[in-house]
Amino acid sequence: MSFITRFAPSPTGPLHLGHAYSALLAYDMAQKADGAFLLRIEDIDRSRAREHWENQIYDDLAWLGIRWQEPVMRQSERQPDYTAALDDLWARGLIYPCSCTRADIAAAASAPQEGAPLLGPDGVIYPGTCRDFPLEGATPPQNVALRLNMRKACDALQKDLSFSDSGMARETTVSADELIHGVGDIVIARRDMGTSYHLSVVLDDAAQEVTHVIRGEDLFDATKIHILLQSLLGLEQPQYHHHRLIRDEAGKRLAKRDDARAISLFRAEGATPQDIREMVGL
Ligand code: GLU
Repeated sequence: MSFITRFAPSPTGPLHLGHAYSALLAYDMAQKADGAFLLRIEDIDRSRAREHWENQIYDDLAWLGIRWQEPVMRQSERQPDYTAALDDLWARGLIYPCSCTRADIAAAASAPQEGAPLLGPDGVIYPGTCRDFPLEGATPPQNVALRLNMRKACDALQKDLSFSDSGMARETTVSADELIHGVGDIVIARRDMGTSYHLSVVLDDAAQEVTHVIRGEDLFDATKIHILLQSLLGLEQPQYHHHRLIRDEAGKRLAKRDDARAISLFRAEGATPQDIREMVGL
């Protein structure tokens, strides 16, 4: 099929108007292209994912008139794939264990000679404290965070990367320099998770054969990391479409804690799916 897209919510709170917009837009685009719309439950964060939120997601989406292909992919069932990719990156010397705490990183990144800490898509750019310790073992150690050695990763690729974005109607080139200095050694597997959002999302999009990733523009910078991982892991690069965000009256983007804008509340107040479409400008 030439158009496969997905909606990938995390079951950590109620879906709000921003989710409704993203899901409806992806669904409409799939319908128009005579393509497939898939659903993926991003529940790697076991400390925050809840079954009742997952059930509410199915219920809200069905109420909005969205139909998805079964089976639904759930990240909590995909650890073997994540582990295999980590083993591969480890064997190639591209990832390393890191035992720094947030406080360690903040202190090292703001040491007097370092100046103000630089921020990348994943927060403070890692100052590299654990980068050069020798790697031991055939597989990565457990119960410790794993970071991508960005310089080595870029050396392994030896090319600038780019992706096209139909939402923003532009082609973005990502240089090794930007990745090394503007993104840095990101965590690729969290200590408490055995994976990360970035690793899981690229492996899952590939496993679901997603051709079009439609998501909010807040994830635009993360896409630079995703195309790098796709290239390192030999995965197809999908077409991207980053869409505008739905904001509250003060212009702030909606978050899961904005319960007042939860779809379930609008439903309880008697809104129709068409009302929701109008509220988000569809
Ligand atoms: N799970 C992410 C979220 O709820 C979406 C990830 C994605 O679309 O790539 O924000």
